[in-house]
Amino acid sequence: MQKNNFLIIGNGLAGTVLAHTLKQHQISFSIIANKELSKSSWVAGGLWNPVVFKRYTKSWMADVLLSEMKLFYQLCEKKHSAKYYYELPLLKPLANNDEIKFWNKASDFNNYLHDQLILPEELCFKNIQHPMAYGLVKETGRINLERFLTLSHSEFASVTTNETFDYNEIIINENDLVYKNNSYCAVIFCEGHLMTSNPLFNKTMLKPAKGELLELENETIDIKNYIITKNSFLFNLEANKYICGATYEWDDLTDHVTEKAKHELLKKAALISNTHFKITKQLSGVRPSSVDRRPIIGQHPVYKNIYAFNGLGTKGVMLAPYFAKHLTKHIINGEKLMPEVNLNRFYL
Ligand SMILES: Cc1cc2nc3c(=O)[nH]c(=O)nc-3n(C[C@H](O)[C@H](O)[C@H](O)COP(=O)(O)OP(=O)(O)OC[C@H]3O[C@@H](n4cnc5c(N)ncnc54)[C@H](O)[C@@H]3O)c2cc1C
Repeated sequence: MQKNNFLIIGNGLAGTVLAHTLKQHQISFSIIANKELSKSSWVAGGLWNPVVFKRYTKSWMADVLLSEMKLFYQLCEKKHSAKYYYELPLLKPLANNDEIKFWNKASDFNNYLHDQLILPEELCFKNIQHPMAYGLVKETGRINLERFLTLSHSEFASVTTNETFDYNEIIINENDLVYKNNSYCAVIFCEGHLMTSNPLFNKTMLKPAKGELLELENETIDIKNYIITKNSFLFNLEANKYICGATYEWDDLTDHVTEKAKHELLKKAALISNTHFKITKQLSGVRPSSVDRRPIIGQHPVYKNIYAFNGLGTKGVMLAPYFAKHLTKHIINGEKLMPEVNLNRFYL
């Protein structure tokens, strides 16, 4: 395929990481996006972690995703002369001997679980509910997504039109497509959960999950620069400011914050510290989760110049860099897509 003039719809995490990747491969593109339509990438905690806590197993493809992720964001940081990639240790409080035994057993098989437990007194935390011990997860951290997206959007401002894409205006030809009198070689839809409104794609691929977070103020606690996860995560945003998240909701898919989520999150924060948290902000967004928890990428089953890059779900930070490259190589060099992520699995 001729390597120019792609049209990207959406500039959340998916569209933005894809734009960087196309640029790295010297492929030109334009972007149409209305950031007001979906806030998932703007509200996300931005954490990455290679462990599934239910059984302490490694998360899917963790090793390769992590190494690609690190390279990608650090390269962008260099380009932007800014910092938004932070390696931060993550602690799992272990309440009793059974939980400690379970961790120790799992750490024999999962190299992301530190086999040496940490005792609460070693950490000098202030006003935190002491567990019996903490398990330390290796290779965890956070991307400051607001900073990454803001700087990326400035970088791509000259090729971005800030408007809502109108599906009725697209004319799909054999070898190109036309949108509002402009011709493109192909369009790549990166609309997040709003893909469910795209008439070109099967609505049942996604199972969007709303999530809410609280930004909290607390002058009495100190958790250093650790992320603590206990039914939720808590991390220090800046002096005295913390983020606690996140909730999961599958029926109400609006962007509105709710009292129910607020109470749920305050309860979760109280499991980590029984001190007073003042709410300074409540945020909400809808995750583009897929029904089988795998990304949804690739070519439309009928229209060869229509693609999707979606389904990043709860792990967008880790998944986006690897799979943006995977999709780019597929489009440009015809490299085969992994069947687990190929959107044609929903059409077979
Ligand atoms: C509360 C919460 C916490 C989270 N925490 C984490 C975390 O800690 N770590 C992690 O890895 N992930 C986290 N996530 C998930 C993460 O946010 C997503 O995986 C990721 O941001 C999805 O990016 P996206 O670009 O696919 O979707 P979106 O961010 O929804 O972006 C889609 C973009 O397309 C635009 N768009 C859609 N339709 C149109 C149209 N017709 N015309 C123009 N523009 C359009 C939208 O407005 C939007 O800007 C969290 C999500 C939530 C809600």
